Order: sequence, then structure tokens, then C-alpha cells
Amino acid sequence: MTAQIINGTLLSQQIRADVTRRAGALTAQGKQPGLAVILVGDSQASQVYVRNKVKACEDCGFYSVLEKYDGDLTEAALLARIDALNRDAKIHGILVQLPLPAHIDANKVIEAIAAEKDVDGFHISNAGLLMTGQPLFRPCTPYGVMKMLESINYPVRGANAVVVGASNIVGKPQAMLLLQAGATVTICNSKTRDLGYHTRNADILVVATGKRNIVTADMVKPGAVVIDVGMNRDDEGKLCGDVDFANAKEVAGYITPVPGGVGPMTITMLLVNTIEAAERN
Ligand code: NAP
Repeated sequence: MTAQIINGTLLSQQIRADVTRRAGALTAQGKQPGLAVILVGDSQASQVYVRNKVKACEDCGFYSVLEKYDGDLTEAALLARIDALNRDAKIHGILVQLPLPAHIDANKVIEAIAAEKDVDGFHISNAGLLMTGQPLFRPCTPYGVMKMLESINYPVRGANAVVVGASNIVGKPQAMLLLQAGATVTICNSKTRDLGYHTRNADILVVATGKRNIVTADMVKPGAVVIDVGMNRDDEGKLCGDVDFANAKEVAGYITPVPGGVGPMTITMLLVNTIEAAERN
């Protein structure tokens, strides 16, 4: 069996067309949606991520601001900037690109963002709302994964879902969203004793560890939906995920590629969160 590919690029285009339409409707009422992106330091990877985010905003007709600061920016100066953006009526979403330099407390910075402008969904009150089943913003990557499941009409209710990885930005919110959709959820981490024992039981397998080939074909239940969040480099320097895609696709029912899978969906769901914030406003 060869799995059907869930094409994140194509699905993103469809969702972005809807976002563009909604942005046009708000702009016509004088309420153009606005996103501010803050980058501290000169990490090459972060520069690419923020450029892509700002370009996606512009393509959808948003107002967007990219603020770049040197790596020696003080925590106090960053907090003051966030405070100003919290009060800026043109800005509906604020995103601080992580990681931040070591001298800045990332938790303090995230908590400084007004919860109603926290389009990444990382603020502790948004995490709490998600946990208690009343999400305001769903973190972008897990939200994108849920849209991918929706796109194939997958019956999540009652399914066994296994999330490999338990970070605050991917694994844990992913598990919450799957649980709310009615799945029976297992979360695995680096201390999990027999990873394959769990993954082989998964109807839905979401892998987010940053460990290349951590999931091999023998760890996949025949017919399962395999969603690969990981972003790694192979021996030739090409982007690859956490799943051994070439072999796993012969066992799975559906699978996401890397690149062209979850990656484009993450930026798309940032746009969705921003338009939702602007519409609520
Ligand atoms: P992270 O903060 O490093 O968390 C990794 C998680 O994986 C941790 O919970 C860790 O367990 C777990 N883990 C590590 N080794 C494991 C093992 N052998 N077995 C089971 N679990 C294991 O990473 P992250 O931020 O969640 O990101 C994960 C990956 O997704 C990275 O490759 C990242 O680049 C990628 N990512 C992609 C997108 C996208 O848009 N495509 C977005 C976000 C992240 P412990 O908790 O025990 O340490």
C-alpha cells in the first residue's frame, strides 16, 4: 500500500485564499488586520522564518511590521516595545520569534504580550484556556495539524492518537486539541521506554521531536495517518522530518511530506489566528 500524501502547500493555499477574502472585508470597514513580528539577534534561521511570516501577511493583505533588534537588546527595552504594541490599535497580533538571546527571559516576554494579541497561543492564559477546552488561540503548528486531519475527513473521535514529543509549543497543545476532538491520546517523550509499542497502536501518529528517522516503517500501524512535524537536515543538507518517509509511506494510509507538509500550515495558521483576532476586535 502506498499512502496518500497530505499536501500542506495546497491546503495552505486554500486556507490563505479564505484569509485574504476575510482580510479584504475587514479592510473595507477600515479595520485592516495587523501583525507585528519582533526578531532579536541575527540567527539566519530566524531571519528566514520572520521574512516568510511577514511576506505571507503582505500577500494576504495584512498590515505588517517587522521589528529587528540587535542581540544585545535589553529585556527591559523589549518589554517596553511589547507594551507599546499591546496598546497599538493597528496591531491585532504580536509574535516574538523564538529563541531569544540567553539574557532575555522568554517566559517573561511571552507573558508580557496581551493575551488577546498572542497569536502564537503561547501565553500562559491561552495555554490554560486550551487546557480547559475554551481556546482563544490554538498554537499554530498543532492547529495546522488539526486542519490537515479535517481536510481528509478523518474521524478523530474515538481514534487512538499518539503524539511523540511533549514540548509546550507542539506536543502538549497537539495532545489537547486531539483530546478535545475526541481521540484517546498518548503523549511520548524522551523517557518513553518502548516508543514502537505506542506508535504501532496509533491510528493518528503525530511526530514532533527534531530527531531524524525516529519513526521507522515498522513502528507505523498499517493504514495510519502519519503527521511529521519535525524539521531536520539529512546527510546532503536537505530538509527532512522525523519519520523515515520513503519506507513509512508504504505502510501508512496518509502521510505528510517534509518539506511541503506541516511547515506551510504553521505560517498559514498564524494568519488565521491574526484574522480571528482582528475579527474579534
Ligand atoms: P523540543 O522543544 O526540542 O521538544 C522535543 C520533544 O521531543 C521533547 O518533548 C522530547 O522529550 C521529545 N523527544 C526527544 N527525543 C525523543 C525520543 N527519543 N523519543 C520520544 N520523544 C523524544 O522541540 P519542538 O519545538 O517541539 O519541535 C520538534 C520538532 O518540530 C523540531 O524538529 C522542530 O524544528 C519542528 N517544528 C516544526 C514546525 C513546523 O512548522 N513544521 C513547527 C515547530 C517545530 P522530553 O520532553 O523528554 O525532552
